[in-house]
Amino acid sequence: MLATEEAVEQMWGVTLDRLYDSEEGRRILSCIQCGTCAGTCPHGEHMQYPPRRIITMLKAGLIEEVFASDSLVMCVNCYACQSKCPRNIRLTEILLPLVKEQTIVRLPQMPPELQKAVENSYRYGNSQGESARKRALWTKTATVPIRILADDPRPVDALWFVESDLAFHPRGQDVARATARVFDALGADFAILGNEERTAGDCGRLSWEPGLSEALIDYTMSILKKYEFRRIVVSDPHAFDAFKYRYPMFGFDETVESTVSYVHRDLEKIRPRLKKRLEYTVTYHDSCCLGRHNKLFEEPRELLLAIPGIRLVEMVHTRENGLCCGGGGGGMWLDTYYKARGIERLSDRRVREALDTGADVLAIACPYEISRFEDAVKVAGAEGRLRVRDIMELLVESFGDA
Ligand code: SF4
Ligand code: SF4
Repeated sequence: MLATEEAVEQMWGVTLDRLYDSEEGRRILSCIQCGTCAGTCPHGEHMQYPPRRIITMLKAGLIEEVFASDSLVMCVNCYACQSKCPRNIRLTEILLPLVKEQTIVRLPQMPPELQKAVENSYRYGNSQGESARKRALWTKTATVPIRILADDPRPVDALWFVESDLAFHPRGQDVARATARVFDALGADFAILGNEERTAGDCGRLSWEPGLSEALIDYTMSILKKYEFRRIVVSDPHAFDAFKYRYPMFGFDETVESTVSYVHRDLEKIRPRLKKRLEYTVTYHDSCCLGRHNKLFEEPRELLLAIPGIRLVEMVHTRENGLCCGGGGGGMWLDTYYKARGIERLSDRRVREALDTGADVLAIACPYEISRFEDAVKVAGAEGRLRVRDIMELLVESFGDA
């Protein structure tokens, strides 16, 4: 049994070969074959075995055939199938990871970009392959003080888990600096792990490599034990998901909040600071992890609408029906794999939807989306017409004193 199968069994009581032994397993077998999952999947047309067929094959004792196909390489963990299933089958949380993790063992070769990201995460604690010693460098250009716990280990209210895309990607660093400014404006008592932080491990868990995910979870839990804090505030929705749903499988029981909900709760504290009018037409992209999986649909919109001047318009797929950016489940490192098979990137589709609204800003709340959408804007030839901005950046712009 793979290590993650053991963790899933511990959390949900599910293994593929003993589905009748647990409530969640029996729920999987209660599938009525309605096909909603396949119909709602943004890559369903490219899958030989979408979730509905996987369950058929499981029931027929033919799951080895599914393991041998690359259907679940197309799965970007967007939670669309799970959220629509009339039987409440936890497809994205339970069934698909179990199948994916068996698929990898049988693939003739792991897609090279994904392989590199996995190797980098093992070696450096981040998929970018950056030196762990550079993780906190961005704080040197922040305009507010940022406490690093290794230097100042006093107890703190909010331990801010920054994650790798904000720590290393140049545009992510812009968002990290903006987030720090918003926390400062809230009067928050916050601190970061700095160079002690490594990626939380979500994509390892939900894409391919259970051993990597578990090594990262073990590491992060050992570091967190060194410090006293009341909550972890997480900027990356994928990491937020990891802390909320994966880490408890390993005994983690701290309070976890996303940056969006943390700021939204104290919105009144910063509202007086939102003085500068931003005359933008904005459309908001729902992150799959924040939106569909955690139902944070209104909070990000209310933050945007608190900014004077902003006019909010919706894309054709919004909230529960939002279209994934294609970055989850390892999709961040599968663009070349998809392209070679003639599959259009979901980020390109999403940017077209944003352009159709006439918006001049595509607002986001997930660091994966910055690089994906900024690239898709270039591909669409829409540079100068549509800008990609994190909600934290827009809040800081409205402070008007940058
Ligand atoms: S949506 Fe649920 S019930 Fe319908 S086919 Fe898919 S797994 Fe089965
Ligand atoms: S999680 Fe999303 S991408 Fe994966 S099978 Fe379900 S609908 Fe398709």
